[in-house]
Amino acid sequence: MPVTIVLGTQWGDEGKGKLTDLIAADMDFVVRYQGGHNAGHTVVVDGESFALQLIPSGVLNESVIPVIGNGVVVDPGVLLAEIDTLASRGVDTSRLRVSGQAHLIMPYHIELDRVAERHLGKNSLGTTKRGIGPTYADKAARIGLRVQDMLDPKIFRQKLDVVLKEKNAILAKVYNRLPLSSDQIADTYLNEYAPRIAPLISDTVSLLHDAIEEGKNILLEGAQATFLDLDHGTYPFVTSSNPTAGGAITGSGIGPRNISRIIGVAKAYLTRVGAGPFPTELFDETSDVLVERGREFGTNTGRRRRTGWFDAVLLRQAVRLNSLSEVFLTKLDVLDEFEVVKVATAYESEGERYDSVPYHQSVFHKVVPIYKELPGWRCDLSTVRKRSDLPKEALNYIEFLSAQIGVPITMVGVGPSREQYVEI
Ligand code: GDP
Repeated sequence: MPVTIVLGTQWGDEGKGKLTDLIAADMDFVVRYQGGHNAGHTVVVDGESFALQLIPSGVLNESVIPVIGNGVVVDPGVLLAEIDTLASRGVDTSRLRVSGQAHLIMPYHIELDRVAERHLGKNSLGTTKRGIGPTYADKAARIGLRVQDMLDPKIFRQKLDVVLKEKNAILAKVYNRLPLSSDQIADTYLNEYAPRIAPLISDTVSLLHDAIEEGKNILLEGAQATFLDLDHGTYPFVTSSNPTAGGAITGSGIGPRNISRIIGVAKAYLTRVGAGPFPTELFDETSDVLVERGREFGTNTGRRRRTGWFDAVLLRQAVRLNSLSEVFLTKLDVLDEFEVVKVATAYESEGERYDSVPYHQSVFHKVVPIYKELPGWRCDLSTVRKRSDLPKEALNYIEFLSAQIGVPITMVGVGPSREQYVEI
């Protein structure tokens, strides 16, 4: 069966873009199924770095049709800017297809995201303030505008006028902001964006099902990660969509029985951006080494990421939540210098041992990891390309993690470039 899912198993930034790009060579379609332009995939090809926020990473591969699925939220201004940037660097984006069912990020979503975060003060969620959360909220409230509405100016205006009345009242009365102009928004979306986006809008569900029937290969590409999932993540420090495998199904319209392979991407250590629990977090010089060697700064935000040791408890949960068939372990080279590497195999709290993630957040916030210490390899992995050339300590680390999480680790990343990986 031809459908593969690639998703993040931790708190994001695992290096999904690189794997997606690597296996895109065998794919006919690469589909984004959730999130918005907060994804920040980085792909390095021939030493040139491409930061993609909304368009699937498969766009760099000329034989791939990139698809923005129905589960994604789209800011058309950002989409067009990304298309223009790629075009200016010689990348052809004309194959791109955008689901007519995807929801539109509107200017009031961005404005409300900004003011609401400010209003929350020290309790703010650390959102990227791009309107993504408010757009998903309106989708659930059934007052959202969808990409296909841009093709029908009358419907677009009708929906906009109704919803803007309420949004302007909230902006003015709750947040003391100026109201937004319906005419101005309609002008931008219908006259500036719609003519350029119209040729890309498609019935992506039919497109993908026809492709399945023709035996084509499809990759469903997750953004963010398992523990940022709205349902299964560390709520409320989560994203507003479902990056887990279930989200791949609703966000693309492909049913579960068509999925053949689910690859989880995991960093050889752990990082997190923004607030929220993080049992294996490090605060000493080990953290500085991970940040420096792993270049752990956000692709879009530039924020220093929080760092910690690999957490096998979380990974076991990710295997369950996503039915992972295998794991791709990235950034193993970042651990090259350590004499000892640690892995959390369980947690402890108030005398009790937890082998799986405690369901109650009050417990999870307080758990202390139980670590297994393993010898480091203290050599440069960046030039290794074959399993047999890996030092025995590195292999031991990989095998230990694999045994802990219960699924095979099939590839490891040893550097940022496309060719820097080892098949296990
Ligand atoms: P994504 O959103 O999951 O694709 O993750 P990011 O793109 O934010 O982070 C991945 C970063 O790590 C990028 O800068 C990649 O070039 C880099 N990267 C990916 N795999 C490896 C690896 O195996 N080793 C090293 N050192 N860097 C890697």
